[in-house]
Amino acid sequence: MTRLRVLTLNAALGALDYAPREGVSAPPGTIVRVPLGPREIIGVVWEADLLPVKPVEDAKLRKINGAFDAPPLPERLRRLCEWTARYYYAPLSSVVRMAMPSPSALSEKTLTEYRLTGEVPRRLTPQRQAALDLLAGRQGVVRELAGWAGVSDAVIRGLVKAGVIEPVEAPADVVPPLPDPAFAPADLAPGQAAASARMTEAVTARRFEPFLLHGVTGSGKTETYLESVAAALESGGQALILLPEIALTEPLERRIEARFGVRPVSWHSDLRQSERRSAWRAIAKGEARLTVGARSALFLPYPNLRCIVVDEAHETSFKQEDGVLYHARDVAVMRGKLESVPVVLATATPPLEARVQAEKGTYSELTLPSRYGGASLPTIEAVDLREHVPPAQNFLSQPLVEAVGERIERGEQSLLFLNRRGYAPLTLCRHCGTRIECPNCSAWLVEHRLTRRLMCHHCGLAEPVPETCPECGEADTLVPCGPGVERIAEEAARRFPEARIALATSDTIGSPARARAFVDSVERGDVDILIGTQLITKGYHFPDLTLVGVVDADLALQGGDLRAGERTFQQIVQVAGRAGRGAKPGHVIIQTHQPDAPVIEALVRADAEGFYAAEVEARREAAMPPFGRLAALILSGPDESNVASAARMIGAAAPRSVDQFSVIGPAPAPLSLLRGRYRHRLLAHAARRVDLDEVLGRWLGNIDLPRDVRLTVDIDPYSF
Ligand code: ADP
Ligand code: ZN
Repeated sequence: MTRLRVLTLNAALGALDYAPREGVSAPPGTIVRVPLGPREIIGVVWEADLLPVKPVEDAKLRKINGAFDAPPLPERLRRLCEWTARYYYAPLSSVVRMAMPSPSALSEKTLTEYRLTGEVPRRLTPQRQAALDLLAGRQGVVRELAGWAGVSDAVIRGLVKAGVIEPVEAPADVVPPLPDPAFAPADLAPGQAAASARMTEAVTARRFEPFLLHGVTGSGKTETYLESVAAALESGGQALILLPEIALTEPLERRIEARFGVRPVSWHSDLRQSERRSAWRAIAKGEARLTVGARSALFLPYPNLRCIVVDEAHETSFKQEDGVLYHARDVAVMRGKLESVPVVLATATPPLEARVQAEKGTYSELTLPSRYGGASLPTIEAVDLREHVPPAQNFLSQPLVEAVGERIERGEQSLLFLNRRGYAPLTLCRHCGTRIECPNCSAWLVEHRLTRRLMCHHCGLAEPVPETCPECGEADTLVPCGPGVERIAEEAARRFPEARIALATSDTIGSPARARAFVDSVERGDVDILIGTQLITKGYHFPDLTLVGVVDADLALQGGDLRAGERTFQQIVQVAGRAGRGAKPGHVIIQTHQPDAPVIEALVRADAEGFYAAEVEARREAAMPPFGRLAALILSGPDESNVASAARMIGAAAPRSVDQFSVIGPAPAPLSLLRGRYRHRLLAHAARRVDLDEVLGRWLGNIDLPRDVRLTVDIDPYSF
């Protein structure tokens, strides 16, 4: 009897066998409905020889219920999912789940969305009134409205009954307009043209080739890679541009619109269910030709992909830190390989791993050494904070304040960068010395004045700022310690009362619409001083911005992990890259307590090559990535002693006879309590040639953990 092997989306269930149903064609990749006990679940038909199952007798085999009318997951995507599962030691079901839309997107039935009717009821509880205020101008399914308003589904349904909220049919499949194939080629500078020719040739030849497009900030990388995107579209195929952050999609989509005449399809976590559904279906049918998305866009079912771009390829946010722990840059290269298409990694500060690949010749490096249109790179100066001590409760040194003042006089813009949201990272009681900590995490609560909350940046906890110390009960003894961007904005307002100041953090420009309004106001010249977190370090092009102040360069150096130096270097080069992009030259002031740290000296000397050469050497000597491999094993659970003993048990079971493989730990993880779960970790180190997947499988495959302890394996970890 023929059997269908069906991969469920539940990691514990894995794959199951079913009998086919007459009249339902279900080749591999087909998304099917299958019975499971009394329920019906979703699964994907898979090649039988590639997945193990528990054997079932023919007589007990149940039939599939049916197939969805959605396009099947393409074969190359199935192979990508398998590779990802193996490389990152994750269940295939969890990986495939990332490639799937929500169940409602699988059928052609329309979705019902809801919106305010405009009817103002006379008597409304304050809670319902507050919910309505939050929903003004919004439209979505019940679940989404409930989420935005912070109420239960039942409250929303009640408001529908009361006639305050009404249903609307969300459009079914929206076919996005195609770019005009006759779009004019851009007028590229000679360096851009040479780089673009190499990439375009690979697109046309349908050849896998990883490119490292290494161009200084403002060199015109975007313009250059858009040419190879154009080539992919012109040949009738699809293209994907990955960005590290939602905030960057907006400016890029605008540039694309200017260049190609239409907006791309966007894919990120903030999409409404109906948008997600039509994007998924349009992409799967090959109708959506150009997608701009966050890392999860990598697992979409493009039938006809011809080019992949990873912009700002050095960004650490390409590493997914929950669910399947994958690195989008590496998965992008693998997808390119499986699809036989080029992959462009564009960056001003190549990640060390990509540099090493380029040196080995596995990646083709294309260099744009100077800024487009003859703009010069900014000069960089370090200000020693031990010498130029800011006044008490202030964080801007005299040289920086003077430089900002000069810019204001000249009608130019300044950017003050501090990678810390909120007002102050620590709230301390002057009377008893208590530091206010998160009850769920081993971390301080960060005061946010804009929202008047103490927030945990790890678990999202937000509570009102207390008026008395929660420990000793004294009133008026709580003091903020250290700066966040909000506090810098306050200081700037005090020191430059006449200046127009804009604060740019995820709290103020987190949504695409607000990001757009922010960019507009800076471009109009309505802002003298921009203050922001890493959100404004990249992507933006503000010609009148001539000064960048790095408020605390030492921040990124803390923590002392493998990539601390590299990360500091990248972050400062990126933010420095916002200065002097127009006709006027730019200048950068770095405030630091360690002006002689190698990374600060390299920045001041503009010696990227020297800095990286030393970093590469240090990693090579220690056999650290990319010269060796690391895997972090995190055990977590609500009971600390169970977690600790599970960690010891795994440590004791570690393989001892594998050559060039060693295990460090267990020990409490750096963040030893996170979201109410205690965390212990082990770190496995292996030479490149060790088959890590196989070793981990032998080690961890048969371990029985207590029910309340979870094991997470993080391959090529970023924080450990
Ligand atoms: P990067 O991505 O390397 O930081 P951009 O692509 O943002 O650089 O280019 C910097 C600026 O130069 C942008 O304003 C862009 O529009 C402009 N630019 C780059 N290349 C060209 C070109 N070939 N023709 C016209 N303008 C260009
Ligand atoms: Zn917390």
